[in-house]
Amino acid sequence: MERFKALVVDKADEGTVMDIKEIGMDDLSEGEVTIKVAYSSVNYKDGMVGVTGSIAETFPIVPGIDLAGTVISSEDERFQEGDEVIATSYYIGTRHSGGFSEVARIPAEWVVPLPEGLTLKESMELGTAGFTAALCVKRLEENGLEPGAGKVLVDGASGGVGSLAINMLADKGYEVVASTGRTEEAEYLKSLGAAKVIHRDEVTDTDGKSTRKRQWQAAIDPVGGKTLQYILSSLDYGGSVATCGLAGGIEVETTVLPFISRAINWLGIDSVKYPMEPRIKVWESLAGELKPSALETHISHEVSLEELPDTLRDILKGRVRGRIIVKF
Ligand code: NDP
Repeated sequence: MERFKALVVDKADEGTVMDIKEIGMDDLSEGEVTIKVAYSSVNYKDGMVGVTGSIAETFPIVPGIDLAGTVISSEDERFQEGDEVIATSYYIGTRHSGGFSEVARIPAEWVVPLPEGLTLKESMELGTAGFTAALCVKRLEENGLEPGAGKVLVDGASGGVGSLAINMLADKGYEVVASTGRTEEAEYLKSLGAAKVIHRDEVTDTDGKSTRKRQWQAAIDPVGGKTLQYILSSLDYGGSVATCGLAGGIEVETTVLPFISRAINWLGIDSVKYPMEPRIKVWESLAGELKPSALETHISHEVSLEELPDTLRDILKGRVRGRIIVKF
């Protein structure tokens, strides 16, 4: 492929400028594996790279932290022409040209073979959001989460990580309470398996109490900020929160009290530098026991490369429901 289409983001006087351009291999970052991209997906981070440029480490950049496709050529013996692969995380789409391009070139050590049980499309319906939700569920279970032992709160519920986490937990038999700013999405969230839907104001700290009524055996928190403050103050004895995002803010005020009087666990989740060996296993679980039952019907819709600039603006404004995939 000599020339192909990609979304290119460059710095502007204020923020960034996004253009669909015809580019060539010389415009892509270096790597051993060249991939014909079949699908990408839209994550909050892509909005940050495309719209504000805040987390882009180089310009111009092709954003897209997720991609899945077929190997066109490989200089690494682990991959052959025709292999179906997934590439997410590391510096893809922030420092290394990413998935919003018909062709991508990725270092072999960042490439995951598509596991049996997932199609390329399904792998991007999951994408980094699904991978992160799976990391949260696994980490909570390693710390004692079990069905029947109490409610699990998922906030940022209508977003990518939140909606996939609800679906994964409900499929495993957990009683999930979904917190959202968009209660008009209650039926959608219930269709993913939420037992109850509450407004995010109910789990936002407004009074600075470090402990309050114990309500949750665990929580998955893509929001952070005052929501996380509330969660820390309301986890049950021995409960855990998996902190994975900052959609509502990065600052958190707490005290030692819930830690030393309720033995709670504050668990950090990072998908970006998660090592390759366990990463492959997480993708295998996403193709098996953790594959969300409602993936096809409830979670995704598709956009084209041309529709991406508007979609990236929408995701930063919290207007996107569930997952959006990009089809090439
Ligand atoms: P989405 O935009 O799809 O979802 C975020 C959701 O958070 C929104 O849908 C909304 O849910 C809620 N939200 C948005 N703004 C606010 C606000 N101001 N206050 C409270 N809630 C808000 O993003 P993703 O699900 O893709 O990502 C979620 C977060 O997780 C991001 O911060 C992202 O950077 C982070 N992340 C981290 C990863 C890691 O490795 N740790 C990997 C992937 C994502 P609702 O309308 O239902 O309230």
